[in-house]
Amino acid sequence: MAKPLNIRQDVCLRAHNTFQFKVRARFFVSVSKVSELMQALLWAKENNLDPLVLGGGSNLVFVDDVDTLVIHIAKMGRHWSAVNGDCATLILGAGENWHDVVLYAAAANYRGIENLALIPGTVGAAPVQNIGAYGVEIGDTLESLLALDCETGDLVELNHSDCRFSYRDSLFKQRPGRYIILEVSLRLRRNKSFSLEYGELRSYFDKAEKHLTPLSVAEGVMAIRRRKLPDPEKLPNAGSFFKNPEVPFKTWHSLKSQFPGIVGYPGTHKVKLAAAWMIDQSGWKGFRNERVGVHSQQALVLVNHASGTGADIMALADDIRSEVFARFGIALEIEPQVYPQKVSAQ
Ligand code: FAD
Ligand code: NAP
Repeated sequence: MAKPLNIRQDVCLRAHNTFQFKVRARFFVSVSKVSELMQALLWAKENNLDPLVLGGGSNLVFVDDVDTLVIHIAKMGRHWSAVNGDCATLILGAGENWHDVVLYAAAANYRGIENLALIPGTVGAAPVQNIGAYGVEIGDTLESLLALDCETGDLVELNHSDCRFSYRDSLFKQRPGRYIILEVSLRLRRNKSFSLEYGELRSYFDKAEKHLTPLSVAEGVMAIRRRKLPDPEKLPNAGSFFKNPEVPFKTWHSLKSQFPGIVGYPGTHKVKLAAAWMIDQSGWKGFRNERVGVHSQQALVLVNHASGTGADIMALADDIRSEVFARFGIALEIEPQVYPQKVSAQ
């Protein structure tokens, strides 16, 4: 007989979100098996609740208490399959810690995800925003994933193209609430060149040892990130608060003639603008009030100085967005999921 679920009531979510907001969940359950997830979803349906799926809470802004069932995904597991030649597939439970997995793969001498070291959160959430850093995205190595389709109730296997990955975006962001990711398969390689094109990585490794391994690259990434990005344990945050906007070349040329110092990275069809540069130029970098602020070393990161709330962060974000829009005509998009969803002023 299935074990009854341990659904708790009125649970504080402070330890479950990296902004450390002290919001409460009306109901909370942690699930480590597919059968438990099914039970939790059935219970939510019987109680007319639209559940919220939670991993590590590092890409979420809780603006208010969560008046529903929070389902925390804790399905663990790591195993290797289809090991042939220099390739292997690493199959991971959605509840695994992403950074631990990066080190695990790197220690086994497999390449492909070492640039994604020190990104907080779970494996199951990583495809949602197609996590990326230093020119590498999870979409580059993701072979397939197993998900529960909440519309049909079926377990489905989605391959790479089904996931519709693009810059910090995927099918799962476009269809929120439809899929719950349970397992992720990554195709990794032993003989693949490292991606060291980003300036900070290049100069770090120019000075470092010449024989690079996946582990030494991951360690380099960790050292660079620790120098610049705030540790959410010490200074609560959710990473980049805004996405870097992608604009057509025509817009880029017009911006460049008005603002010669503007920072952008031309791609094939569009140019990616550095949102941090525009925020910095608008005078926000290092701003703080008594509750929240903008990180002094990276203007994309909004921080909670201990007593701030989600509403404080959203008010600051609105001010930043308005000023960047007024100055550059660019509407910044908020990257983390805001709960409950807020209708934007712009
Ligand atoms: P959560 O915050 O718990 O959830 C995020 C979203 O995914 C929510 O909508 C949630 O409902 C959904 N979700 C969670 N689990 C599942 C699942 N199993 N199935 C379906 N939906 C699910 N991001 C980057 O891309 N690159 C970076 O370099 C980076 N650096 C960061 C640095 C810091 C200091 C911080 C705090 C954040 C950073 N992030 C970065 C953002 C964040 O770490 C990633 O987006 C991460 O993948 C979120 O994982 P999580 O488990 O915490 O997701
Ligand atoms: P950085 O290396 O100082 O770069 C600043 C911005 O310029 C980044 O947003 C990056 O875009 C872009 N950039 C730099 N070099 C580039 C190149 N050669 N080609 C294309 N774009 C380039 O950024 P950082 O703040 O120190 O962060 C380092 C990496 O970690 C970045 O990739 C960043 O995205 C990632 N990160 C993400 C989050 C998050 O929450 N999403 C949080 C922290 C760090 P991209 O952002 O597109 O890479």
